[in-house]
Amino acid sequence: MDCDKCGTDAVTHLAYSGLHLCEGCFTQSVEKRVRKRIREDGVVPDDATPEDPDTWVIGLSGGKDSVVLTKILHDTFEQDPRIELIGLTIHEGIEGYRDESVDACVELADDLELRHELVTYEEEFGVQMDDVAEEDPEGMAPCAYCGVFRRDILERYADELGADKLLTGHNLDDEAQTALMNFLEGNPRQIAKHFDASLGGFDDRETQETFVPRAKPLRDVPEKEVALYAHVENLPAHITECPHASEAYRGEIQELLLKLESNHPGTRHSIMAGYEQLAESAADSLRDGVDDLGECDRCGAPTDRDVCRKCYLVEAVDGEVPAR
Ligand code: SF4
Ligand SMILES: [Zn+2]
Ligand SMILES: [Zn+2]
Repeated sequence: MDCDKCGTDAVTHLAYSGLHLCEGCFTQSVEKRVRKRIREDGVVPDDATPEDPDTWVIGLSGGKDSVVLTKILHDTFEQDPRIELIGLTIHEGIEGYRDESVDACVELADDLELRHELVTYEEEFGVQMDDVAEEDPEGMAPCAYCGVFRRDILERYADELGADKLLTGHNLDDEAQTALMNFLEGNPRQIAKHFDASLGGFDDRETQETFVPRAKPLRDVPEKEVALYAHVENLPAHITECPHASEAYRGEIQELLLKLESNHPGTRHSIMAGYEQLAESAADSLRDGVDDLGECDRCGAPTDRDVCRKCYLVEAVDGEVPAR
């Protein structure tokens, strides 16, 4: 097959648009979508200047999504003094998995001459995810602990590094899965929160002062295309799955969506187009102002309890009787 744009050999067929694309036209098309999303979401603020740049912390895990995001952001803003990029990598303490993906992050940051920070659960909380999964004091899936610890680090370091925004590599499949899960859970407040936390453009959201606002510039790019981009560009991405991965429900939704997509190309795009409009309406009518958050007695993080969830879980893993 020939590329529909330039006539050279095509390497991919995008069923939802009908296009066959060669390597060059394919990578251009991915980059164009990411830049358009950044523009449409207003991620670069009008008041950013070379003297007072907007600082973006990128959650860089070493997986294909965050590696592709980092590379495209670097190429787009390398010559733009209004934007400062910092890669932030978290080592959870998962043997045989995270060491290799951290290597991928270090290699990429070196190649791109990107400022890069590495933070470990061990240093921050005195725990390793392998031990947490083994001990499991709360009888939960490993990801339930890991998600709380990761969020705590991302928020705290984004703040410490002076971040104006936190950018993550969620792709179209991730977002369509979350959208469908939120629908199926039947909780419009959750949908409203999703909009304000990370989904809508910056002009349409109501962001909370206590949290660094998030953006997901890859959210129009299907997962398979992110993987192909990483391959074509020869990026140092790590692809092994975490041995503790346990989001069974998300896995079911993922299978369902892939089946729908293959029978009805374009399903993910249409889910997101409708969901974003609904989420905005839900946010407009359901947001009840800024949550009144206090400070955690132990670490000072914003929380609606005496002790935040992270401190509670760290104490539970340490075998102390946690304070509720
Ligand atoms: S799959 Fe779960 S346990 Fe593994 S790194 Fe991700 S959140 Fe943590
Ligand atoms: Zn072409
Ligand atoms: Zn705390």
